Amino acid sequence: MTALINRIIDHSGVNGPGIRMVLMFQGCNFHCRYCHVPETLGNCNGCGICAYHCPAEALKPDMPGIAPQWIEENCTDCGACINACRKDSSPKIRKMSIKDVLDYTAGRLGQIRGITCSGGECTLYPEFMAELFPIIRRQKLSCLIETNGSVDLEKQGDLMKYCDGVMLDIKAANPVKHQELTGHSNEQVFKNAEFLARTGKLVEIRTVITRTDYGAEETVEKAAALLRPYLKKNDIAYRLIPFRVFGVRREYRRLGTPSPEKLEGLRSLAESCGFTQVFVS
Ligand code: SF4
Ligand code: SF4
Repeated sequence: MTALINRIIDHSGVNGPGIRMVLMFQGCNFHCRYCHVPETLGNCNGCGICAYHCPAEALKPDMPGIAPQWIEENCTDCGACINACRKDSSPKIRKMSIKDVLDYTAGRLGQIRGITCSGGECTLYPEFMAELFPIIRRQKLSCLIETNGSVDLEKQGDLMKYCDGVMLDIKAANPVKHQELTGHSNEQVFKNAEFLARTGKLVEIRTVITRTDYGAEETVEKAAALLRPYLKKNDIAYRLIPFRVFGVRREYRRLGTPSPEKLEGLRSLAESCGFTQVFVS
């Protein structure tokens, strides 16, 4: 079994509790306007354009339809290839087997609390994670998922058996605004939120806050109403993430950073709705 991996971050402090290794899977079924890693969204079509933008001879053009060969030791991580790509992709994506991932992690897991599968949308690879997680857990490390909530997790029994917890994006409660922001419905997202809370797997809800109004107040209130029966029993956090332009596609940078007052207002609202752990970061 293989998965397309955009990159692996050895040490991250922002993808779940503690320092974690992050596997960024390639491909996403949402196309959120504010995505800060748009190079994880699409499929490379092998056009080869990126190779002509590389200033470091780190991309060797291949046949038409095949991505250029990435020569990692020459790469300076300048990002020129990603900026040049018109397919929201990257020439540095690797097709990795479970063994490839384990070979990579060997010797790197000592200082971390666990792994987080992210993306892109990692739940598009449920069998891969279901096979990987029990092996990682045998090393006394936790396995978490960051997801847009679009895949019905109640039907992913093997995955949920070994997944220690989920950080779930609720991008907008209003169906019209969610559609506008992501290109997709939020119906499954709310079903997943309830399922994960009921089964004690919901670690955190996340909402990106922009200056452009996507109904953040309504989102916090609807999430709280849905999760109220579980908030006392499970410590479910709410993370309000201020929009940052870094990495965001040029045409969506106008969504804008929210004011400190707006963020504080949302924090107060989330707390008054029953969330005991509310983070703004
Ligand atoms: S990464 Fe983008 S620019 Fe490079 S070959 Fe693939 S589609 Fe073309
Ligand atoms: S990031 Fe891309 S463009 Fe820059 S050196 Fe590496 S392969 Fe070349």
